[in-house]
Amino acid sequence: MGDQFHGSFTQQEPIPEEGIDAAVRVMRSGRLHRYNLIEGEESETGLLELEFKAQTGAAYALAVASGGYAMATALRALGVKPGQQVLTNAFTLAPVPGAIASVGAVPVFVGVTEELVIDLEDLSRKIQQTSSKVLLLSHMRGHLCDMDALMALCEAAGVQVIEDCAHTMGARWGDVASGRHGVFGCFSCQTYKHINAGEGGLLISDDAAAMARATMLSGSYMLYGRHPAGPPESAFETIRYDTPNVSGRMDNLRAAILRPQLRALEGQIQKWLARYQVVEHALQQTPGLTLIARPQAETFVGSSIQFLLLDWPDEAIQEVLRGCAARGVELKWFGGAEPVGFTSRYDSWRYVDSPPMPKSDRILKAIIDMRLPLTFSLEDCALIGRIIDEEVKKSAAKAA
Ligand SMILES: *Cc1c(COP(=O)(O)O)cnc(C)c1O
Repeated sequence: MGDQFHGSFTQQEPIPEEGIDAAVRVMRSGRLHRYNLIEGEESETGLLELEFKAQTGAAYALAVASGGYAMATALRALGVKPGQQVLTNAFTLAPVPGAIASVGAVPVFVGVTEELVIDLEDLSRKIQQTSSKVLLLSHMRGHLCDMDALMALCEAAGVQVIEDCAHTMGARWGDVASGRHGVFGCFSCQTYKHINAGEGGLLISDDAAAMARATMLSGSYMLYGRHPAGPPESAFETIRYDTPNVSGRMDNLRAAILRPQLRALEGQIQKWLARYQVVEHALQQTPGLTLIARPQAETFVGSSIQFLLLDWPDEAIQEVLRGCAARGVELKWFGGAEPVGFTSRYDSWRYVDSPPMPKSDRILKAIIDMRLPLTFSLEDCALIGRIIDEEVKKSAAKAA
């Protein structure tokens, strides 16, 4: 049956020692709550916000409880109301339509292209067909669409953009950091993203009023003055009276763990990219397998890799999945009839009444997805690539 891979696709690296030391210091202090400060002290959470703001170039940053919470807060801060339609990607993960549903709004799914990004033609059509004035754009699996074209389209139509950057922390379109195009950029610090606090989220924005609302929403009480990366106090003047508190703050323990990881992010991105390129290279010549073309303007983080088995029969795809699994390579398929693990697609969220999307269905049915944790060596990645190449060829030969 050939070589076996023995690594774990869900094993992340340990927290850096510096983060562990900082976390222990926070625990020894007993001051875990972000507003629990002594004279002259800066909170780990506030410092994390300052550092993230500097790293992304945003005017303001806010740390919160999760990526999903960040998205829901952004929607609320833009005034999205129950029953309102919100555009979003058909190819994304459950927390994205979930954030829309959590504010009582209604997701309207927009199709996916073979490059695994939002279909701008379909977006344009759906903007016209619906009354929607907000797009929650998910950079799913780190694929950035033509952000200049998307922003031009949305600006012309008066559609506000919130970016879901759960897979694009550290990525760029041209010179612009992912998350800096929309009114809000939303990031996740959950274990399987680019920095790991177990759970956590970050919001960035240049809009003082929107960020003031997000800060109040996150549960700042009247302590918004203790947000060193937040808007000036004047931005809260009226907002503080009419914005509800929907607690979802980050705590100092998580922030302490995250700060050294944020400093190391650039180096980590290089490691991810190297792993991505090794697997991609191994699959360059595999017949019947389509790699995803990456645009020149995109600087991406290869924390996962996708390829397409376009127009393959289900049985042949399942044969590839089984063959790889038997050799220790865990692939995820977005085409399965039932959502499994982290795979899910627009038609598996049955709380949304969504018309079928045949063009997108063809793509979704073809998507194979694989994580590339940094605990894999380059040799591991070469072996994984070889196994996939062999199993795809084997299944194709059998189907022929
Ligand atoms: C993980 C993830 C989120 C949200 O992250 P949580 O921190 O788990 O709430 C949002 N969008 C995508 C695409 C994700 O993968």
